[in-house]
Amino acid sequence: MEILDILRKYSFVFKKSLGQNFLTDSQLLDAIARDAGVEKTDTVVEIGAGAGTLTRALAARASKVVAFDIDEALVPVLRESLAGVENAEIVFRDVLKCSDEELLGIIGGKFKVVANIPYYITTPLVMRFAESSLPVESVTVTVQKEVAERLVAEAGTPEYGAISATVALRGDARITRDVPRRMFRPVPNVDSAVVRIDFVRDKFPATDVGAVSELVRQCFRMRRKTLLNNLIAAGYGKEKARLAIERAGFPADVRGERLSAKDYVGLYGELNLTE
Ligand code: SAM
Repeated sequence: MEILDILRKYSFVFKKSLGQNFLTDSQLLDAIARDAGVEKTDTVVEIGAGAGTLTRALAARASKVVAFDIDEALVPVLRESLAGVENAEIVFRDVLKCSDEELLGIIGGKFKVVANIPYYITTPLVMRFAESSLPVESVTVTVQKEVAERLVAEAGTPEYGAISATVALRGDARITRDVPRRMFRPVPNVDSAVVRIDFVRDKFPATDVGAVSELVRQCFRMRRKTLLNNLIAAGYGKEKARLAIERAGFPADVRGERLSAKDYVGLYGELNLTE
């Protein structure tokens, strides 16, 4: 039975509040699994199973899929849509509310995250995995196009922000494909894109990446202000902040969005040197 017929059979009501726009095109779903680099030995964690269409495509390529969703109205739908798929397990829990220990208990070992997620959980979800000590190899997300552009943005571009720098501190991000709005059911009013983030352990060796991330957050808190003013607002003394910016190689009136992840690592070092 077609997925839309299964949803109809169980009188499923799409919830806008949960970002329930589902993908149904099997070629596209397989292409997303391929973009995520899913291989036969992989454990994949899917966030937002929906009607199980992506879950099925991932299961065809992976060793095991653990798919999370929070809408229990999907139980009968998933039972039918995933019938015969032996290597997929559905967990009805909010992944953002699970501790690292709980997640590791459920997942078992190293894993890749694949998700087609609503706009409002993109940043918390990417940060959840980027900042954890979990053995996560990559995160591949289908998100609103504008959000995708922010995730991969280079320093100095209008799309660049705290999330771009934070992702770049931990790995390499790229857009793998565009997904036009007409591919979703129901059709949303925005286009999407697939972003793959490969985490690179020790991308900046001997660096406290968590502390640099916190610095990035502080430096983007007031986007219209200079880096110097953001550092002062974060509690650094004016002279110390001025000196660190100069030693990092930037003019005194530079704004936070000019600095790349590597520059933030340098700035963090200078701020600590001028202690
Ligand atoms: N993967 C399916 C697809 O590609 O068609 C469904 C994607 S749909 C855009 C997003 C799904 O995420 C919905 O089924 C929604 O219930 C679920 N969701 C929303 N917030 C969630 C959360 N915090 N944790 C897990 N799932 C969530």
